[in-house]
Amino acid sequence: MAGTAPRAPLRSCIGCRAVRAKHELLRVARTPSGVLADPYDRLPGRGAYLCPDPRCIASARRRDAAALRRALRGAVGPEGLAALDELYAMVVDHRVPEGTVRSENA
Ligand SMILES: [Zn+2]
Repeated sequence: MAGTAPRAPLRSCIGCRAVRAKHELLRVARTPSGVLADPYDRLPGRGAYLCPDPRCIASARRRDAAALRRALRGAVGPEGLAALDELYAMVVDHRVPEGTVRSENA
């Protein structure tokens, strides 16, 4: 049982394209009931990932959430923008989930 620990799954941020451990990123999910912020990674469906950094979230929101639409493979509508706004508020208020690595705002 010479255990090589399984590597943490990696995802890339849709804002800055940086590849990071999935648990360090905030998720937006396309669920059966619509596009929702999923910071605790609990919802089913296709996900898009973002650094807990207001700049990344602002970048993903640009051009009617073009990056989010690309990641979720289709239209996201106002609920997609609302999901990004929700994550943005969490980050600026320091309400990101425990264990998520915050980027420093230099
Ligand atoms: Zn990023």
